[in-house]
Amino acid sequence: MTPADFASSSSGSPTGSDALEGARDWPSVGQRIIEWSDALAAFSEDETALTRTYLTSAHHAAAEQIRQWMQAAGMQVRRDAVGNIIGRYEGARPGAPALLTGSHFDSVRNAGKYDGTLGVLLPIAVIALLNDSGRRLECALEVIGFAEEEGVRFKSTLLGSRALAGTFDPAVLASRDQAGCTLGQAIDAAGLGFGVADIPAAAYAREKVLGFLEVHIEQGPVLLNAGLPVGIVTAIAGASRYVLELTGEAGHAGTVPMAMRRDAAMAACVMALELETYCRARAQLVGTVGQLEIPHGTANVVPGRARFSIDIRSSDDTVRAKAVADTLAMAKRVAEERGIELAITPTHEAQSVPCSKALQERLEHAIKAQGLPVHYLPSGAGHDAMAMAKLTDVAMLFVRCGNGGISHNPKEALTAADAGVAASVFMRFLEGLGEPRAI
Ligand SMILES: [Zn+2]
Repeated sequence: MTPADFASSSSGSPTGSDALEGARDWPSVGQRIIEWSDALAAFSEDETALTRTYLTSAHHAAAEQIRQWMQAAGMQVRRDAVGNIIGRYEGARPGAPALLTGSHFDSVRNAGKYDGTLGVLLPIAVIALLNDSGRRLECALEVIGFAEEEGVRFKSTLLGSRALAGTFDPAVLASRDQAGCTLGQAIDAAGLGFGVADIPAAAYAREKVLGFLEVHIEQGPVLLNAGLPVGIVTAIAGASRYVLELTGEAGHAGTVPMAMRRDAAMAACVMALELETYCRARAQLVGTVGQLEIPHGTANVVPGRARFSIDIRSSDDTVRAKAVADTLAMAKRVAEERGIELAITPTHEAQSVPCSKALQERLEHAIKAQGLPVHYLPSGAGHDAMAMAKLTDVAMLFVRCGNGGISHNPKEALTAADAGVAASVFMRFLEGLGEPRAI
């Protein structure tokens, strides 16, 4: 199987006689997904909020619940050495390559109910429909609940998807949680029947994989504002982060005249505002100053020091590289004009990850077949698909996020109707998948 198989099969009529979705009651499928999301949210370390970090008892209990739903949907279920839970719905030909799908079931602190879990539960609900009607695809389907994506407990992200993609970095096994337990110790003590030594074997063989599709709540307001239930992700944005430290001269707030000041905080403010203006003028860019400090600041002292962070993202790496260069040049100019010393430290750099054109086309066919407008958008946030792109072609389907698009927050909202629409698109995406190419 090659990605070309996707291209050829998606170019056929999306409304062929083999329509899998029939006249299903998609709102009730959506309702089931919402009910499962509610049930899964009960597995939390906090009594009053949803917090489910890697390899805690709440995390294990959630995995066991997912296992039950997968088994009831006709899947063979296993856990691997890093705690991913993987359900396989065998194809018509046993042992056929699989389309992989899924997302993460760990969470941030005080999380919403759909971030990650939607991408696990929605495919299970769709496969349950196939199973109920005794249908098999030519290819296998594997739903992966990635054990760790958010990086809350060990400050290292994408552990589950990196293990499957074969890019797990053994150096992170020495990372410690707040209690002093290392990641390696946590994995060995997890009772999964596997240990750290088995992590390399968790990686998939490329020839066994057709591609990876991740369904995820958008975590932003774009689809909400466009009035659309779903959208196709074009690329996951690359990101550059820096810390800028400014040193001026502290002085008395009452005695140093304005024109004679070397105020580090005001220089930082000018730089932050210039960054905002620059990014607002360019549709492909977002720029954020998320930390802004005046160390030892006091109300009656002209600040001698300031420190702030810059986060610049774009789905186009060339645009991001230019924005970074322009921003750092601007910061140097502002520092010079104001007599400020400037130290710039890079802290993070990630390339953008383009989604597969063939898989995007297949999603487009699936959305059109449901009578919906097609909307493409980049993902500003990182996702498991980023790591899976090292293994195979990836695609992402975003689902509308209610409540202004808020996420990583208990206010995160998804309607049953939208979950149902996304499930219908997912089902349509599967149509004809893995079938021999038409000659
Ligand atoms: Zn997520």
